[in-house]
Amino acid sequence: MLALTNELPRELAKYYNDDNTFTQAEAPRVIKHYCCPVCWGELSEIYIQGEARVVIACPVHGNVCDIGRIMKSSAALMMEKAHFQYAVVIRNLPDLWGQFRDQPKKSRAASLAEMGF
Ligand SMILES: [Zn+2]
Repeated sequence: MLALTNELPRELAKYYNDDNTFTQAEAPRVIKHYCCPVCWGELSEIYIQGEARVVIACPVHGNVCDIGRIMKSSAALMMEKAHFQYAVVIRNLPDLWGQFRDQPKKSRAASLAEMGF
């Protein structure tokens, strides 16, 4: 198994071409604006020994030219939408997620009494 480093050995350069690599000028912009489409994690720049082009990959899911990429702004919108759906799911599946339902607020006096004051 290949150790995870920030540089690929020269022997692997034959697997990479202009279609699955980026120029060193493109790479920072891609990394800044895009994330992994699977885990929405940060992308990394991986250099190929002796090559001017770089591979951009998710450390877990691989090359973005194979798995795709998603804009960080789109991922943020999906996370925000999921946050709003969370409350609906918790409310609609009380037998599975009942412990996460909003608990009735305790009065200040009840909270203080619980803490021993
Ligand atoms: Zn990933």
